[in-house]
Amino acid sequence: MAKIPRLMPQNPRMFRAEVARTERISPSMHRVTVTGADLAEFPWMGYDHWFRLFMQLPHQSALRLPEFTGDRWWHAYLDLPEDERPHCANYTVAGFRPEAAEMDIDFVVHRGPTGELEGRAAVWACAARPGDGLAVLDQGVMFDRPADASEVIVVAEETGLPATAGILRSLPRDTVGRVIQEIPSEGDRRDLDAPAAMTVTWVVRDNPHSVPGHAALDELRRLTTVDTAAYAFVVGESGLSTKGRRHLHRAGLPKHRITFSGFWRHEAHQPA
Ligand SMILES: Cc1cc2nc3c(=O)[nH]c(=O)nc-3n(C[C@H](O)[C@H](O)[C@H](O)COP(=O)(O)OP(=O)(O)OC[C@H]3O[C@@H](n4cnc5c(N)ncnc54)[C@H](O)[C@@H]3O)c2cc1C
Repeated sequence: MAKIPRLMPQNPRMFRAEVARTERISPSMHRVTVTGADLAEFPWMGYDHWFRLFMQLPHQSALRLPEFTGDRWWHAYLDLPEDERPHCANYTVAGFRPEAAEMDIDFVVHRGPTGELEGRAAVWACAARPGDGLAVLDQGVMFDRPADASEVIVVAEETGLPATAGILRSLPRDTVGRVIQEIPSEGDRRDLDAPAAMTVTWVVRDNPHSVPGHAALDELRRLTTVDTAAYAFVVGESGLSTKGRRHLHRAGLPKHRITFSGFWRHEAHQPA
């Protein structure tokens, strides 16, 4: 589903780390700050730099990692016995401080129909304690703005907020464009370090039960024409990414000027 990232490392490197501290930074976002002896060498490129996160299983006393060379980590991972295989999920570098060998990871805290915490990675993050083991496998950057882009359009729901924040922080200060950023609640709004000519529209979901991404898509559909020389980055729940791409294309943007990625897929809850 995801467009193949142009800046993906040829031989992705695995970095072992441990939890340094955690903090609830907003009602729906839990930050885990991790550190590790070699984490200072993580080749951070800014923008939406992402990685595979490997987490210890609740019954384990130590993290067991797949051994691999080159980019074929997946086979080595599946070869591990299921009850020893670490949980793996994709996350974005929310902050990186090489001088302290520290990385911030922002986890969306999402809940099931009866209010229970849902998602293995979010559950891990909310229970994480200093010293817990983990590893990150570098995957590079998806944001791929052509040099001649007339403007940049970024559309995301909350799982894409760390990417939005990283992209805005990394863009040249004279970049022109707009961001449509959906969040679950007003309290999830945050200060963004954006170029002056990038306008940011926050869309707060008014219905807590609606599928994340619908509100951002409605806002995007208000944009009926798009400059053919623009560049767009659309990420989040898979409906937002695919329908957002379709809308932008119909509005005039060639497909090769759109990066889109389904970060996760909504599954309707079955009644008990
Ligand atoms: C490149 C990339 C970067 C990403 N960066 C981030 C990031 O920085 N922060 C972040 O929070 N997420 C990020 N995501 C999304 C994250 O990988 C998914 O939300 C993933 O499903 C979480 O893993 P899990 O193991 O907890 O999910 P699972 O345990 O596999 O999911 C359990 C259930 O939760 C549902 N679910 C998953 N995510 C959500 C959600 N956000 N809201 C509601 N229901 C959900 C699933 O549909 C499933 O039914 C990123 C994804 C990609 C591809």
